[in-house]
Amino acid sequence: MKPGLLAALFVVSAVATALLVWAGVQPGKAPMKTADVVEVGKVRYSKSGYDITRLDAAAIERLAAGLTDEERTILLRKGTEPAFCGNLLDNKKDGVYCCRLCGLPLFSSEAKFNSGTGWPSFFTSVDPAHVGKVEDRSYGMVRTEIVCTRCNGHLGHVFDDGPRPTGRRYCLNSASLTFYEKGAERPAASMPVKTATAYFAGGCFWGVEDRFQQIPGVLDAVSGYMGGTVTNPTYRQVCTGETGHAETVKVVFDPARVSYGQLLEFFFRVHDPSQVNRQGPDVGTQYRSAIFTTDAAQSDEARAFIEAQRKTTRFVLRGIATQVVPAAEAGAFYEAEEYHQDYHRKHGGSCAMPELP
Ligand SMILES: [Zn+2]
Repeated sequence: MKPGLLAALFVVSAVATALLVWAGVQPGKAPMKTADVVEVGKVRYSKSGYDITRLDAAAIERLAAGLTDEERTILLRKGTEPAFCGNLLDNKKDGVYCCRLCGLPLFSSEAKFNSGTGWPSFFTSVDPAHVGKVEDRSYGMVRTEIVCTRCNGHLGHVFDDGPRPTGRRYCLNSASLTFYEKGAERPAASMPVKTATAYFAGGCFWGVEDRFQQIPGVLDAVSGYMGGTVTNPTYRQVCTGETGHAETVKVVFDPARVSYGQLLEFFFRVHDPSQVNRQGPDVGTQYRSAIFTTDAAQSDEARAFIEAQRKTTRFVLRGIATQVVPAAEAGAFYEAEEYHQDYHRKHGGSCAMPELP
C-alpha cells in the first residue's frame, strides 16, 4: 500500500472516530442488545407459539416490496412519523397490533393507553420475545429502541414513564403496525404455528427429551409415561414395571420446519431400537422402544419406516423391537413429575447429539 494512501486512510479513520465520539457513541462498543435479538436463521418459537426465527436480508427485502415510502423509511431506516398524525393513535377497537412488515403480533388493545404524546402507546407487549430492545444513542440521547424480533423492523422506543402495572411506555409509529380487529381473519404470518404432536419411548426419558428439544422445529419436548393401565402413575409406580407404562417423550413440532419422517430417523439415532425392554443399563418394560401414533398417517409412516430400516445393514441381523401403537389404544400421556423435566438442562451432563437427518 502506498504511504500516501495509508495516511489518507488514517485521516478518514480519525475523523470517523471523532464524529462517533461527538455523536455520543463509544468507538468499539457495540450497541446494547437484549437476549431477545437473535442470530439470523436460528429457529426459535415464542412461549405464545409463534415462529420468531429471525428473517434474513433477502426475506426482509421481499416483504418490504409491499411497503409505502413512509413505511419503508420508518421500518427499515428507523424513521419517526410526526406526532398526532398516525392512523392508529385514536384507534379504540379491540384487537391486535401486528408488525406491518412481517405480521408478527406485537401489542394488544388491552394494553393501549392515551399517553398524550401523539403516538400510539402501550404498557406491555403481547409476548416479551416478540419485541427486541436495542440501545439507541442517536441525536445525542440515550434511548431504548424497540424492534420486531422476527424482521428487526423499527417500531419506536420504550420509556420508563408508563402507567401501572409495568411502568413502561412503548411508544409506537402507526406506520410500523397493522391492526386486526378482534374476530377478524388474520394472515398465517400473524397466527401461531400449526403444531403436530408425536410420542417416542426410547429408554430413559431424560436423554430422549434433551435431544429432541435441540431439534430445530421442535417447540417442546416433555417427559412422561404412556402405554400403561394406571391413571396418573408416579415414577415410583412406573419403575416397578407393573403399570405397563413406557418412559415416553411428547414432542410438539412445527411440520413446516421438521417432518415426522425426520423425527423418526432422529429417534432411531438417539436410541437402540434392537434392544428388547431395555436401553443399555436400564432394564424393564418401562424402557421399551415404542412409537405412539396420533393418527393413521403417522401409523403408516412409522410402520413403513421400520420395515425399510429392517433391511439396512444396521438391523438386518439384529432386528427391530420398536412397537408402533396408536395413541388411542395406548391410553393417555401423563406428564412426569417436575424434577424429571428438562433434567439435563437443570443438572448438566447433556447427551451428545447425533447428526441431524
Ligand atoms: Zn416484523
